[in-house]
Amino acid sequence: MQDVVRGSELYKGKAKTVYATSDPRYLVMHYRDDVSAFDGAKLAKLDRKGETNNLINAYVMGRLAEAGVASHFVRVLNERESLVKAMKMLPVECVVRNVVAGSMAKRYGIAEGTKLAEPVFEFFLKSDALHDPLVNDDHIRILGWAGAGEIAEMKALTHKVNGVLKPMFAKAGIDLVDYKLEFGHPVDDPNGPIVLGDEFTPDGCRLWDAATGEKMDKDRFRRDLGSVIEHYREVGRRIGVPNM
Ligand code: UDP
Repeated sequence: MQDVVRGSELYKGKAKTVYATSDPRYLVMHYRDDVSAFDGAKLAKLDRKGETNNLINAYVMGRLAEAGVASHFVRVLNERESLVKAMKMLPVECVVRNVVAGSMAKRYGIAEGTKLAEPVFEFFLKSDALHDPLVNDDHIRILGWAGAGEIAEMKALTHKVNGVLKPMFAKAGIDLVDYKLEFGHPVDDPNGPIVLGDEFTPDGCRLWDAATGEKMDKDRFRRDLGSVIEHYREVGRRIGVPNM
């Protein structure tokens, strides 16, 4: 797709707006400066967040593509926008944890920072109204949110992503503690393999400086630690994102 003409607004999420294009197989993903936490209960605008996340996401999706993980990402269009394949998304979030933090620490009463012997995989149902409840394979399959094959594909792909990103961040002196991925089917291949959608940015993962333990992700916003985007850009510089 050479010349992209941005069409009407299709969906405005908490941090990104999605626009149609002249080709129904493609969408424009626009990264805004908005940041939200606690299912939208805490909102703010952070200067340069949109352009920062657009560039970090593009770089990470590129690294994943090199490693054979297909995603909806096509290419960066401008400072705040990327072209992506239009997708029918599965209504679940896939979380992988290398270190205990956040909701897992609270749920089981385990100290944040406890290392896990193997990555732990969790599914959550995408629903702000229900606060994204933890669900298991049976819930997903029997209630019809995804099929057994799709569940297996989501798990396999998420572990494959971990195998690429954990060492990538480790080389940059950063511990990849946990992160969330979302998958779907490209609209022009609804019965084909699932592909990675949404984004990979410091908004959807926990990144701790390996030497100091300093938080470099959205917990800086959630926990009022300040200099949020400065830390996002430091992550970008360390992993080699251009123009950080
Ligand atoms: N996460 C996300 N979106 C969500 C829920 C979680 O991006 O709707 C990310 C979150 O940033 C963290 C990981 O998934 O990196 C695990 O989140 P957790 O279950 O610990 O929930 P939290 O305490 O962050 O709400």
